[in-house]
Amino acid sequence: MNGHFSDNTGINPLVLCENRRGFSILNISSAIFDCSAPDLDSCPDESLPEFAFIGRSNVGKSSLLNLLAGEQGLARVSPTPGFTKFINFFTMNNCWRLVDLPGYGFAKIARRDSARFNQSVFDYLENRPNLCLVFALIESGLEPQEIDLEFVEWLVRHAVPFILVFTKADKVSADTAQTNIAAFTDRISAWFEKLPAVFACSATTRRGRPELLGVIADQIKAINTAANQAGASSESSPNPSLKALAQGNRKRRPDRNRPW
Ligand code: GDP
Repeated sequence: MNGHFSDNTGINPLVLCENRRGFSILNISSAIFDCSAPDLDSCPDESLPEFAFIGRSNVGKSSLLNLLAGEQGLARVSPTPGFTKFINFFTMNNCWRLVDLPGYGFAKIARRDSARFNQSVFDYLENRPNLCLVFALIESGLEPQEIDLEFVEWLVRHAVPFILVFTKADKVSADTAQTNIAAFTDRISAWFEKLPAVFACSATTRRGRPELLGVIADQIKAINTAANQAGASSESSPNPSLKALAQGNRKRRPDRNRPW
C-alpha cells in the first residue's frame, strides 16, 4: 500500500522531520489517513516509526487518537463497540505513524471473524519491524478487568514494548482513578522487574496529551540521534536506526522468562 509521504523525493522522512525548522511533535500540522490493512501483508511500507494504540472496545481509543492528532474525526468515534475492524494507519507530520488497532473484547462480531481479526493484530504486534511502542489503553473508572490483564500478559509474554494509558480520567474522582490504576499495576507487577510507564488521560479535559506526545517525541529523537551517529544518508530508507530502536525496545521488555 502506498506511503504518500516521501518516496518520490528520495528523502528519508525521518531526517526531513528532524531538519525541519521549528519542528515540534506537539504541533501536528498534518495528520493523513494512509490505509486500512486487514492483515500484516497489507500494511504500508516500513519506513516510518509506528506507535500503536489498542484497548477494549469503548475504552476511548478513537477519542484519544483524535485528541493526540488534534483533529476531530481522524479516527472514528463510534457508538458501536467493535466498529473498527482493520488496522488503520495515519501519517503524522510526514514523519511518524499513529496506528489504530482494532478494539478487543467486542461482543457483536461473529466468533470466526473475531478470531481472524485478532490474528492479524497479533501478527502486527509480534512481527512489524518498525513498531516502536504500543499504547495499551485501560479505562480508569473500572477495577482491573480480566480481558485487559490477559492482553497485557500477552504483550509481556511476546516482548512487545508498551506503556499503560488509563483513559477517561475525568469520569471518576482522582481517588477512584488512582485506586483502579494501583490495583491494575499491582496485579501485573510480578511480571516485571520495572513496571512500564503509566499515564492518565482524558479526551474531554485534554489531560495527558503533552505527556503521550512527549513519549513519541523521545522515541523519534532517539532514532534520529542513532541515525546521525551512524551517519545515515538521506537516501537510506527504511532507516536502519528505526528498526534497531524498535528491536531494542523489544529486547528491553522486562522479565521475559516469567513463569506463567
Ligand atoms: P473506542 O471504542 O475505544 O474508540 O471509544 P470511543 O473513543 O468511541 O469512546 C467511547 C465512548 O466514551 C464515547 O461515548 C466517548 O464520547 C466516550 N469517551 C471517550 N473518551 C472519553 C473521555 O476522556 N472522557 C469521557 N467522559 N468520555 C469519553
